[in-house]
Amino acid sequence: MQQSDPNQDKRRKQKPFLVSYGLVILIMLLLNTFLFPSILKSQVQEVDYGTFISMLEKNQLKVVQLEDEQIYFIDNEDRLYQTNAIPQDYAIVERLETAGVSFDRIYRKQGVLEYLLTNWILPFLPLILLATWFSRRITKQMGEGGMNAMMFGGKSGAKEYVLDDKTGIRFNDVAGQEEAKESLQEIVEFLHDPKKYEEIGAKMPKGALLVGPPGTGKTLLARAVAGEAEVPFFSIAGSEFVEMFVGMGASKVRDLFKQAGEKAPCIVFIDEIDTIGKKRDSGSGFGGNDEREQTLNQLLTEMDGFDAAKGVVILAATNRPESLDPALLRPGRFDRRIPVELPDLAGREAILRLHGRKVKLDSGCDFNVVARMTPGASGAELANIVNEAALGAVRHGRKVVTQPDLQEAVDTILAGAQKKNAILSEKEKCIVAYHEVGHALVAALQHHSAPVQKITIVPRTSGALGFTMQVEDGDHALLSREELLDKIATFTGGRAAEELVFGSVTTGASNDIEQATKLARAMVTRYGMSEDFDMVALETVNGAYLGGDASLTCSETTAAAVDAKVVELVKAQHAKAYALLAENRRKLDEISQYLYEKETITGQEFMEILDRKEA
Ligand code: ADP
Ligand code: MG
Ligand code: ZN
Repeated sequence: MQQSDPNQDKRRKQKPFLVSYGLVILIMLLLNTFLFPSILKSQVQEVDYGTFISMLEKNQLKVVQLEDEQIYFIDNEDRLYQTNAIPQDYAIVERLETAGVSFDRIYRKQGVLEYLLTNWILPFLPLILLATWFSRRITKQMGEGGMNAMMFGGKSGAKEYVLDDKTGIRFNDVAGQEEAKESLQEIVEFLHDPKKYEEIGAKMPKGALLVGPPGTGKTLLARAVAGEAEVPFFSIAGSEFVEMFVGMGASKVRDLFKQAGEKAPCIVFIDEIDTIGKKRDSGSGFGGNDEREQTLNQLLTEMDGFDAAKGVVILAATNRPESLDPALLRPGRFDRRIPVELPDLAGREAILRLHGRKVKLDSGCDFNVVARMTPGASGAELANIVNEAALGAVRHGRKVVTQPDLQEAVDTILAGAQKKNAILSEKEKCIVAYHEVGHALVAALQHHSAPVQKITIVPRTSGALGFTMQVEDGDHALLSREELLDKIATFTGGRAAEELVFGSVTTGASNDIEQATKLARAMVTRYGMSEDFDMVALETVNGAYLGGDASLTCSETTAAAVDAKVVELVKAQHAKAYALLAENRRKLDEISQYLYEKETITGQEFMEILDRKEA
């Protein structure tokens, strides 16, 4: 990792300041050498003593000033001369008197100060004033903070919110998101009493990254953590770091952490961290975004540098985790990742209720109905729906919000959101439900698959419309042939359910297909699990730590045979999955219906329905 040199930052920071004054000095130098000497430097012409004597003899002298080591004199044409070397010529005074030259003080030797004043300061005073005026103007344009920061090391623009019990946001103000709250609870406890952790020797994670789609309450959660822990909350948006001058971002980061260190225990929250935390590309020769990179480097340095035991916890939020620089995700930095996903049915209802408390509601309002109408909507959109409904009620001259107001608001808000968030239609939601239950059911009906932990049809950040989570009980270092085959069958289960129920297929299975193929291929080429090829390695894996790129190590005819074998394997498992689902069609319908209603179900609920005796 490339780290930035703090001194360099300082130099950079003072650049505009130095530039404006440096420019003035340069101009001064130029003018002084080329322009002013003839005007301002006293035009003393240096001559030798002989010239002085000969001018005296020619009677060309008017006034003379005798000094210890010099003679200054003015000739008849009022030109000033000076001569340096004076032989011991005691007769000179007499000779001058005879010639009728008058004595006077015509030239005064300048001291250093005087020299500076007359030759440098006075002539350039106007210029200096001009420069000062300009820098004032720049200060004004940048806002006071900018120039201060530039000249005096500066305060960051981070706003500090000191929260007390009454005004602080609590976890209660965040509806749903139970899993996220649970992960954050530990941080709250740590902030309450950092010493307790220190005594045991437990290290708290320095940073946690809230990851999820826009409007799901990431910012709200971060504030709630501060509110719950009753600690100061420093928040700054990633974009604020990158605005100012070059080097400002890095200095802002440094300053932010300095302030936070003084206020510990506290929370530093960096919103939209992707704006500074984007992957640094090595190829940008001309430092394309040098400023951003410097800021990121500074952030990394600060995170490594400070002692977590002091009780500073860094939270950050992003809705583009995949674009983050891997350096940010290393241990000791944002090593804890907290998903903040779109709310499911119960979550949506809870959010609507929470925001519904802020408006006057008609007794006929049913938030459950509204929640059912809004699969895929984010918390922010739901909050917006309630507000829009209240506005609508006012528009219609009503005193309370009614169900039709809510319904109208759903249409207004979601019409816009539909395009951007891919909110599922009823039909799509139904297909996704069957697809996911297909996976789960095939897994459960086989003997060698891991139990189902959770099924959801709430769209994910990753773009998946739903997913079925299976958790192996215990670590499996070795997988048997049967287990692998069951896995492949499970992957095909989603598509099989679509075929069985709807008689057509969708694009939703692309990831399943990829996974199933990969497994089947590995069985043939790497694990020696097909009769035809026995224990012959047909593939080598390169860079196993980097995801494992496999390359074939066999003849073309064998490669074709491998392909055929892979197809055969997947086909057989697909047929098996289809048959299993067809045999259990009633359960498939029942569970899919249930999932469609609830959107997220636990493995336990799933097994309960599955094990229920049919009436
Ligand atoms: P994010 O930071 O994830 O984009 P915010 O935290 O800024 O989302 O949420 C925007 C607004 O949406 C919040 O101020 C709040 O009113 C509402 N909101 C979002 N999620 C929730 C939630 N789970 N519970 C209550 N309100 C929420
Ligand atoms: Mg936010
Ligand atoms: Zn699937």
